[in-house]
Amino acid sequence: MKFIHCPYCGEKLDKKSIGDEGVVPYCNNCEMPIFDLMYTCILTLVINEFNEIALIRQEYISKTNYVCVAGHIKPGEDAENTVIREVKEELGLDVVNARYIKSYYYEKKDMLMLGFVSKVKKDSFNISSEVDEAQWFSIDEALVNLKDASIAIKLLKDYLKEYNKE
Ligand SMILES: [Zn+2]
Repeated sequence: MKFIHCPYCGEKLDKKSIGDEGVVPYCNNCEMPIFDLMYTCILTLVINEFNEIALIRQEYISKTNYVCVAGHIKPGEDAENTVIREVKEELGLDVVNARYIKSYYYEKKDMLMLGFVSKVKKDSFNISSEVDEAQWFSIDEALVNLKDASIAIKLLKDYLKEYNKE
């Protein structure tokens, strides 16, 4: 997100050269630089003890493609807590262990997505109203059901690369 006006006082931003940062948007009224912002989100593979992956379908995103659990990090929350909260909200499952894998920049929405793997115990889902369907898939099925070139499939492939090394 690029600011045109200062988010604190509303003044139109100027440009100013500041040390190593180079030329940055600057509010002359607040006397401070106003850096561009991006959103920070998590996405997580949810994997049970049988190595099955929980994927969800949200009709406002797609009627056919599955996605993995994802959500915005709220101010004051660390990324691990966001993972635990989103898995509980969207699937009704308790995360036993959440491990960071890799980050992905989603340019279309100016989002930095932090990719995790969440271990859970296999159970029936208690899905949120935002979710239309959740299902357990084998890893091979998950690779077929995730959209090509999506961040979710990149995360799954990066996880498998790491997992196969272990
Ligand atoms: Zn200002």
